[in-house]
Amino acid sequence: MSKAKGYAAAVKDAPLAPFSFERREPREHDVAIDIKFCGICHSDIHQTRDEWNEFLPEPSIFPMVPGHEIAGIVTAAGNKVTKYKVGDKVGIGCFVDSCRTCPECKRGLEQYCAVGMNQTYNSHEKDGSPTYGGYSDKIVVDENYVLRIPENLPLDASAPLLCAGITLYSPLRHWNAGPGKKVAIVGLGGLGHMGVKIAHAMGAEVTVLSQSLKKEADGKRLGADHFYATSDPKTFEKLQRYFDLIICTVSADINWEPYLFSLKVDGAMVLVGAPEKRVPLGAFPLIAGRKSLAGSGIGGIKETQEMLDFCGKHNITSDIELTPIQKVNEAYDRVLKSDVRYRFVIDMASLKNA
Ligand code: NAP
Ligand code: ZN
Ligand code: ZN
Repeated sequence: MSKAKGYAAAVKDAPLAPFSFERREPREHDVAIDIKFCGICHSDIHQTRDEWNEFLPEPSIFPMVPGHEIAGIVTAAGNKVTKYKVGDKVGIGCFVDSCRTCPECKRGLEQYCAVGMNQTYNSHEKDGSPTYGGYSDKIVVDENYVLRIPENLPLDASAPLLCAGITLYSPLRHWNAGPGKKVAIVGLGGLGHMGVKIAHAMGAEVTVLSQSLKKEADGKRLGADHFYATSDPKTFEKLQRYFDLIICTVSADINWEPYLFSLKVDGAMVLVGAPEKRVPLGAFPLIAGRKSLAGSGIGGIKETQEMLDFCGKHNITSDIELTPIQKVNEAYDRVLKSDVRYRFVIDMASLKNA
């Protein structure tokens, strides 16, 4: 075992504070990674506060070292590792293992593993030991769950691709975003701004639906063709039957019905935002126009690599605000106020001073 340093929530709702723990020595298929940067995903906040307890089989596990948007450099590789070598630029996303034998794992949909993926934190390894995430100096992961970050992309702004990027790329691909398609991205936060960039690069017409017009100039710069405030009732009047696809990244419980009325016949609204509470919904917005309401979770390893290569080709990274780890609790407060442009990334060099 080797000593690792990070920041953890000791119990539910506790502010994050310095935490020491151990990482395993690399096994024959493992790579050891020096973590350089880790994005702050809204899911980190939901989980440190155990906000999903109504929906998940187990309560959150503490102490919790969050972080599943990890970018770093390989420092050691087990003797059977073939995919990576010391010095490679790599990333780790939301899971570090899965059963590998169920139909979903075999199809490359490890995120929907029938027995449950081993998540990067707030979860367990197959041997039962707790997983600790990327708000830390190093991590050891089986090479089959490690992603390659394209050489032309900077590590810091690539970190958010590992969750925010793939969470939007996967449904945009699945529901065929591309030329001739009208796509709405609801919520211009960490996930949403990646959705705008990726959908634009795929060739779709992109509309941002945000609470206000405060982020309009940014939205257009990121690649949006249109930008509307959802607080303005005229927005939904104007947009009746407009979209082929709506991807909702909102972290809070909102009324989905007006959005459903802005879909064309046969359109789909895909939820990726994971609010804490249940949202009541009538059947009529769906019946009127054979519409689908769907959900989507991150992406499998193969598709995550495809997304990273797509981003490499199109030179897409996240718009980030670098923060020292000592300011992580302030960063959480700002994420909760939708006051981040557009993803906080922790500079792990700051951990040396922790
Ligand atoms: P974020 O940066 O906080 O962005 C969420 C955005 O939602 C905000 O920027 C805001 O956009 C909008 N919003 C927030 N509160 C709202 C409210 N009360 N009413 C309307 N809009 C509101 O969060 P994120 O990291 O992108 O994550 C978003 C959600 O996705 C979280 O619930 C997270 O857990 C979930 N998530 C899901 C997956 C998955 O696999 N499905 C993966 C990662 C994250 P505007 O300011 O533009 O209105
Ligand atoms: Zn995430
Ligand atoms: Zn499986």
